[in-house]
Amino acid sequence: MARRYWNEEIETIGPAARRRLENERLAEQIAYNWAASPFYRAKLEGAGLTPRRIRAVEDLALVPFTEKTEIAESQRTGSLLGATRCAPVDRIVRIQATGGTTGQPMRIGLTRQDVEDYGEMGARALWAMGCRPGDVVFECMNYNLYAGGVSDHMTFETVGAATIPFGVGQSERLLQMMAALEDELCLWSTPSYAMRLAGLARDKDIDPRTLRLRKGFFSGEAGMQVPGFRERIEATWGMVARDQYGTGELGLHSGECEHRNGVHFGGVGFAVAELIDPDTGDVLPFDDGRQGEVVYTSIRREACPLMRMRSHDLMQVFTETCACGRTSFRLRILGRSDDMFIVKGVNVFPQSVQAVVLTLAPRLNGEFRVVLDRPPPIDYAVPVEVEVARDVPEAHHADLAAELVERLRKELNFTAAARLTEAGSIASEAKTRRVVRTYRADERAP
Ligand SMILES: [Zn+2]
Repeated sequence: MARRYWNEEIETIGPAARRRLENERLAEQIAYNWAASPFYRAKLEGAGLTPRRIRAVEDLALVPFTEKTEIAESQRTGSLLGATRCAPVDRIVRIQATGGTTGQPMRIGLTRQDVEDYGEMGARALWAMGCRPGDVVFECMNYNLYAGGVSDHMTFETVGAATIPFGVGQSERLLQMMAALEDELCLWSTPSYAMRLAGLARDKDIDPRTLRLRKGFFSGEAGMQVPGFRERIEATWGMVARDQYGTGELGLHSGECEHRNGVHFGGVGFAVAELIDPDTGDVLPFDDGRQGEVVYTSIRREACPLMRMRSHDLMQVFTETCACGRTSFRLRILGRSDDMFIVKGVNVFPQSVQAVVLTLAPRLNGEFRVVLDRPPPIDYAVPVEVEVARDVPEAHHADLAAELVERLRKELNFTAAARLTEAGSIASEAKTRRVVRTYRADERAP
């Protein structure tokens, strides 16, 4: 079988050749952004830069970040694609919206070339995930506006898979259709949907394993990284489950190979990734095992190129060549950087704090909030607010707070200042923010 999306030149490219390719395309892209977008030009000028100054990926450290909120804001007044649009509208052939995890959805446009590049990048990721011509893929993502629908669908077609645009919200019909087919099948969905579908099948006395779903391509959630979850999906369906990562702004770009040691970045030649310290914005060395917030810059994009766009996604990267032969870096998503804080060089995630808070249930109900009121470094007792159960007498509150502080110190190695609040004061109907920063974003420690 032709290994169309095992592009030897790209997949096994050495570090020096990759850097040459990236530097060359980066310089072209920055000059293009400068000429085409007054917004990007102002950003560069504001930092005292002209395109000639940006000749290599390392020079990106001089370029100011772009926040998604800036793009969303520029679209709010009615502008179709906002301030980062670099191609005229008569060259745009597709417009989609990003999920808006920050609460600010934004529109992204693609030219015909961008669509082709999106397909190529996604196809590399899918090939790594074991997708091949001959696969019959049920695409069960949301097709309404979202990149996971039409655009990701097209990456499967690029590979040559027989792709069924199923969408969401018709699970019973999906089960009927699967049951009526004698072919081996594949599923493209979120991991939680795969489990929901299995539950629905069992409700109808169908053993999920009889539906012959043999490959699961999963995206959109961290589910595959939750211990035991992948094994459950695989055992439930009798399938091989592979993980994928992408963003609405950049596209489906990374997929997990058979060695399952993180997802391979498939965007070589299309985008570069940097790692930064989420609190200071300083660039971190991109070396094996390093953790940081990822920042993306397009190096071949016409309609809406990204220029140092902060993802606020925290990841760990692996740069050693994989046993599969791919030389691109691998990544593992750790969580949203907005929700993480660093104490004495150690990353603390809300889930870890929650786990400790829950050891004091039912006296504490598990609702909590970390309030950072001063800029980093955190050399002070970290304020942690927790909801206390209604039946705990006030006289016991001080002891309970002291117990929590002691457990946080022992388990997570930081000193907290615990404050007990009444039940219902922290949790909200929307997703509760677990880490709140009350200092101004431009404040820095002296
Ligand atoms: Zn690999």
